[in-house]
Amino acid sequence: MHDARRQKGGATPANSNTRLSTGLVQRAPARLAPTPAPTPTNSNTRMSLGLGRPLAESGAAPWPLASRTPAIAESRMRERMVERLHAEGIRDKRVLAAMLRMPRHMFVDEALASRAYENAALPIGYGQTISQPRIVARMIATARNGRELGRVLEVGTGCGYQAAVLAGVAREVYSIERVRPLHEQASARLRMLRLPQVRLILGDGTRGLPAFAPFDAIIVAAAGLHVPQALLAQLALSGRLVAPEGGAEQRLVVVERVAAERFVRTELEAVRFVPLQTGVQL
Ligand code: SAH
Repeated sequence: MHDARRQKGGATPANSNTRLSTGLVQRAPARLAPTPAPTPTNSNTRMSLGLGRPLAESGAAPWPLASRTPAIAESRMRERMVERLHAEGIRDKRVLAAMLRMPRHMFVDEALASRAYENAALPIGYGQTISQPRIVARMIATARNGRELGRVLEVGTGCGYQAAVLAGVAREVYSIERVRPLHEQASARLRMLRLPQVRLILGDGTRGLPAFAPFDAIIVAAAGLHVPQALLAQLALSGRLVAPEGGAEQRLVVVERVAAERFVRTELEAVRFVPLQTGVQL
């Protein structure tokens, strides 16, 4: 269970008893099996990336952490993150595999990169956050529901991480962001990561993207008081929309279009997302 405070993830206490370090390169290769002593959700895991190391000489590297941290250490941290997700009940292997591949540290500011593999929501600027890995996994697995996904829509690109993970489980990803600088940064990142199947759009996602509808899945990464009607209208038959709903108290909801005019709604866990806003911020 997740109460709102834990969900936000930003205030993770520092009294960690688990420390990941570059020493992890000594560990045996991790698998997707549950770990013998699973780290609890939102645990106080602390990661040490050897940040005292000198920066790469060029200084021009787009992803400073990648330039100064052995790639092996990052991939071990991703393995640990995915093991935790599995232990916490995320069983969709396609989603876990996509998260295992995607370098989450490249989606956050350099100063926060050492925390990129914690189950924490981290600030990405403009008052917004990157969602916790567990929530990203849960939303995508719920939206997918074991199906092959053709076209999917995300509302709230933010840093682009969830869109990039979606690219690992869907043929085409459309993601809308209303804050121009976030949209531009995410576009640069996804170009760098060579994810041409993701199309980012600057706009108000509450209207969806009627020109590209219908969508097999729609994921909303910001909370409105109600799921926008326009988004439900853009769901394909048997399609699923997953969104946080509410104000101070929010719940994750899933709405499935079971027939042209019939939608079945289920409430999942308590969550805490940034608000869904209207209009575009230039
Ligand atoms: N998907 C991100 C989470 C981003 S946080 C991830 O991978 O972690 C939610 C984002 O939704 C913010 O960037 C915010 O600016 C954006 N947002 C809020 N309301 C929106 C709207 N109406 N249309 C598009 N984006 C919106």
